[in-house]
Amino acid sequence: MRRLSTLIRASSDAELPAIFLRLLSVVRARTQSAESDAVTQTDIVPARPEPPAALWLDGGTLADGTGCDPVRNPGILAEAGRITRLGGARPAGAEVVDCSGLMLTPGLIDAHVHMACAPFDSSLRYDVSVAEMAADMFVNCQQTLEGGFTTVRDTGGIDRGLAEVIASGKMPGPRILQCGPVHSQTGGGGQMGAEWEPTHLWDQHAIPGLVAWALLSDGPDELRKNVREGFRRGATFVKLLVTGAVVAISTQQPSDTQFTVAEIAAAVEEASAKGTYVTVHAHNNGGIRAAVTAGVRCVEHGSQIDEETAALMSEHGVALVPTLSIMEQLVVDPASMGLAPSYASRLSEFARTARDAVLIARDAGVRTGLGSDLLGPDQRDRGRELVHRAKLETPMRALEAATRINAEVIGLGDDLGTIEAGKIADIAGFAGDPLSESEQFADRDRVALVVQGGRVARFTPRG
Ligand SMILES: [Zn+2]
Repeated sequence: MRRLSTLIRASSDAELPAIFLRLLSVVRARTQSAESDAVTQTDIVPARPEPPAALWLDGGTLADGTGCDPVRNPGILAEAGRITRLGGARPAGAEVVDCSGLMLTPGLIDAHVHMACAPFDSSLRYDVSVAEMAADMFVNCQQTLEGGFTTVRDTGGIDRGLAEVIASGKMPGPRILQCGPVHSQTGGGGQMGAEWEPTHLWDQHAIPGLVAWALLSDGPDELRKNVREGFRRGATFVKLLVTGAVVAISTQQPSDTQFTVAEIAAAVEEASAKGTYVTVHAHNNGGIRAAVTAGVRCVEHGSQIDEETAALMSEHGVALVPTLSIMEQLVVDPASMGLAPSYASRLSEFARTARDAVLIARDAGVRTGLGSDLLGPDQRDRGRELVHRAKLETPMRALEAATRINAEVIGLGDDLGTIEAGKIADIAGFAGDPLSESEQFADRDRVALVVQGGRVARFTPRG
């Protein structure tokens, strides 16, 4: 259907007789409605340039994302973008990549990014041109891919257009799943700018087609309408802020709970009607418990999760995406994001408990993924999130969180996250052994190979 509609759109109407134009309008209407109904997480897959018919990765060591011990000289065959075989003989006619000296892993997944927050300034001054903002976003996408991240889940701010430009192959970048604008209550964690600014001017900060940070709603009906608006713009999942945030209007605090259970439940109902899910920004336990009660599927940050809340999440099958990198960036160097030093003290209480929360959740059996949540124009350091987790757990656990577990969290567990026959051929190759020395996960110079959808997106031969 997608291919048909692309062909139809490519035709020039002026060249067609009137009877065909009428027929065409019916077909177009049908294909567009079929596409908009399909909120599946596999909808956005980089399609161009086309991958080679066959790609053979020769040699190297494979850590396949399952947590099993690494295997030497695995031999990986990808055909038409998917992995079709491990081991066996090198097939004749295949494009061959010499992977000797590389540790091959599944393409990394960052389950919490903000591509649109580059540059980022919570005061939302109008001192950055739209062109510069767009340029930073595309640079950000390219650097993300070059760092070995072949998929990201954008948890707020971008327009669908960015994901589609990357998917079309016009610009390099990771596969992007996106929720469009986040949903926040008035004066909640999604609202920025000056306190004196009347809320009715909030929407003026959005740049249609490029950036819209948050839609503000109060009451289940208003939230329902805005969730539907998000879907109309192409969101593939829904993000709500159910507690206060650090980088937001100063009259709210991360310790606040936001949205009622009834409001959250309305969003959950709309998401399930679209065949997708709700994830929530949440720091404190009260907000998390309300969200779990209302039926959300995932919690972002979760920096104060206690045993009781972790047990509730586990019971309801709710996943967690901890975000340790942003905590460090905000505490150590808020200026790197253009933020005032006061943000560091605002966060410090949550940064202190965030590491414990990861272990509490994991020990309660919560599916615990990983996200960097980096903000600002320089987001090259996504790999640092794996380093944080490696130090907290083990390098292998960090790798699993960034591959298999994150793929499950974002709804792509059948297609991504491990290297096995049938999966999309997204593969990273590190020159070295990040499982022995986890700092290598954050060393972009070591990312010698990136394969995305069976096509080599980056390869630095070692001499
Ligand atoms: Zn975030």
